[in-house]
Amino acid sequence: MSLPDALGALLGDRCTSDPSAMAGYLEDERGLYQGVAACLVFPETTDEVAAIVKTCAEHGGSLVPQGGNTGYCGGATPSGDTQVLLNLSRLNRVRAIDQVGMTVTAEAGVVLANLHDAVEAEDLFFPLSMGSEGSCQLGGNLATNAGGLAVLKYGMAGELVLGLEVVLPDGSLLNTLKPLRKDNTGYHLKQLFLGAEGTLGIITAAVLKLFPRPTEFQTAWLSVSGIDAACQLLPLARRASGDCVTSFEYVSGKSMALLAQHVDGLKPPLAGDHHVLLELSGALPPGGLRPQLEDLLEQALDTGWAYDAVIAESLDQRRALWALRENIPEAEKRAGRSIKHDVSVPIADIPAYCEAAPHRLAALEPLRLSIYGHIGDGNLHYNVLAPEGADPAAFKADKGEAISRAVHDLAAEMGGSFSAEHGIGQLKTAELARYGDPAALELMRALKAAIDPAGRMNPGKLLG
Ligand SMILES: Cc1cc2nc3c(=O)[nH]c(=O)nc-3n(C[C@H](O)[C@H](O)[C@H](O)COP(=O)(O)OP(=O)(O)OC[C@H]3O[C@@H](n4cnc5c(N)ncnc54)[C@H](O)[C@@H]3O)c2cc1C
Repeated sequence: MSLPDALGALLGDRCTSDPSAMAGYLEDERGLYQGVAACLVFPETTDEVAAIVKTCAEHGGSLVPQGGNTGYCGGATPSGDTQVLLNLSRLNRVRAIDQVGMTVTAEAGVVLANLHDAVEAEDLFFPLSMGSEGSCQLGGNLATNAGGLAVLKYGMAGELVLGLEVVLPDGSLLNTLKPLRKDNTGYHLKQLFLGAEGTLGIITAAVLKLFPRPTEFQTAWLSVSGIDAACQLLPLARRASGDCVTSFEYVSGKSMALLAQHVDGLKPPLAGDHHVLLELSGALPPGGLRPQLEDLLEQALDTGWAYDAVIAESLDQRRALWALRENIPEAEKRAGRSIKHDVSVPIADIPAYCEAAPHRLAALEPLRLSIYGHIGDGNLHYNVLAPEGADPAAFKADKGEAISRAVHDLAAEMGGSFSAEHGIGQLKTAELARYGDPAALELMRALKAAIDPAGRMNPGKLLG
């Protein structure tokens, strides 16, 4: 019996090799990869995931886990006719919410926005948040150790995990699904799977930390004098707000111009070349953060770091400010797609990075920049687009590699990372081989060989 037939016998119509049914799952979010797979399966339980993995092993096949397929590095796109695309979207229950310990146990396929709704209905809060939250899934978030919009206060996805349930490459189950804050009983094995991009096992469920639901959000948009001023503002904002800064996003005037040009109805509330979207939040008595926000904006204006500022006076206005930030990737897409970079450097070095980078790119002009990102986390999306009127595909083919080399080399020279939050997937395997610490790469290969000796899990991704 062929592998698709064996999986069909196990799952019925939740296994398909029909090209038209598979098509929507085979292309990645950015349209960089067109995948190939033996079949597409939709397990509904952890036991079914284990049975699929065992069946695959018996037939010499391999597996590509897929969540919401919103990843930016092609990690969830299969690349061979012996590969099974395992989509987790039907393994999507919220199993338990613990009001006392403030935890939730949820399955990998729950969509992030649905997880928010489920815990908020219990007056609790799961802080992981990003532009793709209406589609991305918990398992994908954990497998990529996603960052997003509230890392400054709550940490990356992996820092929110207390326990994991993982189907290993031989079909056995690793169960650390405990809601314990403290458990120092040997190696912290769950860490291996956070950021492993499905190369070591399939995450089927997780226990996550929850927080009291914030009672107050204070959101402001500032026009600032430069990216150095934006960086100076961050510690001021943290101190002045009693360390209640949840998000601190930088948006360049160039990204705002792209937005205004390509996404109807979205215009920045203030003119200027440099902007900061700042949000304070907390579970505080009503009105608690407004005086602190006003005080810090006054200081920002007095120092000259900010030229002007607007405060969101309603939930709708808060959403409108966030829509500006969150629609930049869409604006880039409509402008012909960008050559994306996801670099990080120490926060204090961001101005030096932004000063040096255009010089490194000067020889590759003409080009357009779109610079924005989570500068409160030292993370910049230093994206490059073809000049107006040029063919984006030809521009990328001609200059893409040299542009990425310049952007990544500079980050590496400054002690930073070429991939701050989007991971490696199949897009950045060569970059990992180039910039990775040799000892770290050797250890990663040893771990891969020990846990997945037959190379069945997400072949070709991360380590290549
Ligand atoms: C508009 C937009 C905004 C975004 N903003 C951010 C942002 O702010 N921060 C950020 O970090 N990312 C961001 N992303 C990227 C992306 O949304 C995240 O990486 C997200 O965590 C991916 O989740 P997913 O469910 O779509 O995973 P997928 O794309 O389906 O998969 C990603 C990787 O995880 C693996 N995987 C998926 N599920 C599992 C599982 N259950 N077990 C093991 N491996 C698994 C896949 O094999 C693949 O390697 C954004 C994307 C878009 C389109």
